[in-house]
Amino acid sequence: MFQVLSLLKIPGTAQHYLECQSEECKRNCEFYCNTCHLQLCKQCRDEHLRAQENKNHDVVIYQERTRKPPLQKCEIHPTKDTDMLCEECQVSLCSKCATSQDHKGHSFTDLEKIHAENLALWQVEIDKICEYFMPTSQSLQNEVRDDAKEIKKIMNNMRESLIVDADSLRSFVDAVVTRNMKQIDQIENSLLKDIETQEDTFTNYITYLNDLVKEFN
Ligand SMILES: [Zn+2]
Ligand SMILES: [Zn+2]
Ligand SMILES: [Zn+2]
Ligand SMILES: [Zn+2]
Repeated sequence: MFQVLSLLKIPGTAQHYLECQSEECKRNCEFYCNTCHLQLCKQCRDEHLRAQENKNHDVVIYQERTRKPPLQKCEIHPTKDTDMLCEECQVSLCSKCATSQDHKGHSFTDLEKIHAENLALWQVEIDKICEYFMPTSQSLQNEVRDDAKEIKKIMNNMRESLIVDADSLRSFVDAVVTRNMKQIDQIENSLLKDIETQEDTFTNYITYLNDLVKEFN
C-alpha cells in the first residue's frame, strides 16, 4: 500500500495551469498529441492536424492523454533512449538494439503501451485508496477522536465527584473535631469544679485547725 501511495505524487496528475507547448504560444493547453507527446491549445491542435505529416496523429483532450514513460538511455547505445521491450529477453531496447543479431526474430512491445497499462492499473489502486482506504481511515480517526473526548468527559466527572467527596469528608471531620473539643471543655470544667470544691474544703479545715491551735494556746 505504501508503494501505491507514493504513486499519488506522479508529476502531471496535479491540476494546474498548463501551457500550450507550441513555440511562443503560451495559451492554455486543452489537448495532447499522444504521437508527439505535446501539449496543445485549440488553435495549435487544428494547425497541428492540418499539416500533412501529422495527419494520423492521435490527438486527445489533455485529461485522456497517454503518459510518456520516463526516458532511459540504452546501456549498449548511450546516445539512444530505450523505447521497447523484448518479450523473449525481458529487457528494454533502443531502436539500434532491436535491429541487432542478438534479438533476431524476437517480438517487441512498445514501452509506451506497457507504461500506459501500468498507469491504468495504478489508477485502479489510487481509486481504491481514494474511495475506500481514505474514507475508512478518516472515519476510524474520527472514532478515535470521539473516544478521546469520551475519556476526557468520564475523567472530568470522576474529578468532580472526588472534589465533592473530599468536601463532605472535610465537613465530617470538622464536625467530629468540634464535638470532641466541646466534650473536652465540659470534662475540664467539671473536673476543675471538683478540685475547687476540694480546695474550699481544705481551706476551711486548715482555718478550723488554726483556730483550734489558737484556742489550745
Ligand atoms: Zn503530433
Ligand atoms: Zn498553442
Ligand atoms: Zn541499444
Ligand atoms: Zn531479445
